Amino acid sequence: MKNEISIMVELQHFWDNVLKCDSETERCRKSIKTWDTRLKEISLKVSTLESEIKALKMNLKKNELDLDEIDSKIKKVEERKNQLKSEREIEAQNNELIVLNESKEKLEGVVLDLLEKLETSEDKLVELKTQLSESEIQTKTDIEALNKKITDNQKESESFKNKFNELLISLDPQIRSRFSKLISSKDGVAIAHLNGEICSRCNFQIPSSITLSASTGRSIETCTNCGRFIY
Ligand SMILES: [Zn+2]
Repeated sequence: MKNEISIMVELQHFWDNVLKCDSETERCRKSIKTWDTRLKEISLKVSTLESEIKALKMNLKKNELDLDEIDSKIKKVEERKNQLKSEREIEAQNNELIVLNESKEKLEGVVLDLLEKLETSEDKLVELKTQLSESEIQTKTDIEALNKKITDNQKESESFKNKFNELLISLDPQIRSRFSKLISSKDGVAIAHLNGEICSRCNFQIPSSITLSASTGRSIETCTNCGRFIY
């Protein structure tokens, strides 16, 4: 009986290592995902800003063309004014000039505003592109390291699994089937040591008669609460 217990303890040790390797692999996979997401976010920011700049440039061009048009209108009105004789006609042209100049001033304000926005956006784009290329290098290095870790962990997990399976055969068939069922449960623990009369896994107080027979190694006992083997 003692032999079965020590086999189970060793099996549990192998299985703990399998679980440890697998959770490390999972952790690495999550990190890779985080890196990828971060990179995609910066990429998206760059392309969003690029389209904003494109729109700003188009808007700027349109306003500059409008400004050119007003300028040539002003020029024409002024030429016409010089050829006029009657005061009434001159006054009408002057009024038109006032309106045209007001529009010109407004447009110049808009153009200046757009130029300023464009400059800020272009600076920001340079900054973001630097950040993106730095992140790309960093991400590549980190993901390579994480992938190597995953491969190593998978190999280690596989090797512990093999050791586990090899040893499992030597367990008494009846115990083996129960042990296998317990080990593939959610937390992967099939055997727990006793703290006095308490199951160290579920903290349940087990009747003395059972703990006594478990601790003397007379028979193989299980926790009356969680059903795990105890020793
Ligand atoms: Zn228990």
